[in-house]
Amino acid sequence: MLSIEQLSQMVHAHLGLNGNANEAQYTAKWIIKESPLGGRGLFATEDIASGEVLFVDHPLISGPRSGVLIRRGCTVCCKLNTNKFFKCHKCSLLLCSESCQDSSIHDDDCGIISSWHNKVSFEEVDATLLSRALTAIRALLLNEEQKQFMTSLQAHVLPQHGTEVRELQQYFEIPERDIQLMILASCVLDANAFQIATSYGKEEMGKRGLYPVSSLLNHNCVPNTRYNYNSDLQMIVKAVKPIQAGCEIFTCYTGLLWGTPARRIHLYKTKHFLCKCDRCADPTERGTFLAALKCFSGECPGSLLPIEPLKSSSSWRCFECGLRVPCDNICTLQSALGSLIGSLDFGNLVELENFYLCRVTKYIPKTNQIVVDLQCRLIWELGERENHRWHGK
Ligand SMILES: [Zn+2]
Ligand SMILES: [Zn+2]
Ligand SMILES: [Zn+2]
Ligand SMILES: [Zn+2]
Repeated sequence: MLSIEQLSQMVHAHLGLNGNANEAQYTAKWIIKESPLGGRGLFATEDIASGEVLFVDHPLISGPRSGVLIRRGCTVCCKLNTNKFFKCHKCSLLLCSESCQDSSIHDDDCGIISSWHNKVSFEEVDATLLSRALTAIRALLLNEEQKQFMTSLQAHVLPQHGTEVRELQQYFEIPERDIQLMILASCVLDANAFQIATSYGKEEMGKRGLYPVSSLLNHNCVPNTRYNYNSDLQMIVKAVKPIQAGCEIFTCYTGLLWGTPARRIHLYKTKHFLCKCDRCADPTERGTFLAALKCFSGECPGSLLPIEPLKSSSSWRCFECGLRVPCDNICTLQSALGSLIGSLDFGNLVELENFYLCRVTKYIPKTNQIVVDLQCRLIWELGERENHRWHGK
């Protein structure tokens, strides 16, 4: 394991902070330290104002996401839904055009994969599996220093991580060294990668990136930073509130507008920990009522909230009439709501609006995350349509 000094040096080199301070876009007002939460974290060394850029990170590796439900897309430009897809004869990666095939990105990918001995013909290689493993495959392109940096990050070493890499061995003879590095990359990616947002109106294959500095940020359900991406896939991390010298700098690993049960399940499944922060411990989530459900008792206008939010088996209680509802009934309702939302066509504005106005608020309070999410989607859709104007100030 790298010492904090070694890690700090790597971080500074990665961010390009070792050069002339006058040329830098920003100065680092933070250091890496042991965090009281365990592991390492970033801490402010001086007071930071809201809106200040803390750092601009870029990915060590990036590429398609590894989930089994990944949609078929070009492995260079990520375009979806073209009927012109073809497989490269040398490496079997899926491509959309000759220009993507001739790109330096494909050249690099192709060089690695075609160096492995094929066990089957190129047509028989599962191109979707290859896409899912591609981000980990790209770890083989890193130089020694970058590999060491990647290795120093936290990894989820559990059997369910790295399966997409192991499955590649059905199709290729891969040197053991490469397999080991790719499995490690996959475990590091699963622990740290950020989903890269697709710009508005673009249909693209889901992408993820290993942003090594951002991945040193610990999680908080009420983070003091936010981030966005520029067109070069750089991640710009800014303070969203004043951060005092000495305080830890946090990001949020889940949807910010998700209610506590959704956030905690997601954190447990993807990051393998149960958050116990103030927001998670407060049944009302600081008065936002994001997870609240309507009281089951006839005319009662109250909301159901978990009695002990840090226990996943907690009963829920109406804060008006005191009705108690066992956790199982709540879970059934939540999954029914989940399937209802899953069946919606988010491209159909009329359906979305009707659902929002007439149906969903019969069952859940307007504060519930599902309603808030629908509102955001409607704003997102309407905000970009002709003849629609934003009247808010
Ligand atoms: Zn393409
Ligand atoms: Zn190729
Ligand atoms: Zn939390
Ligand atoms: Zn009630």
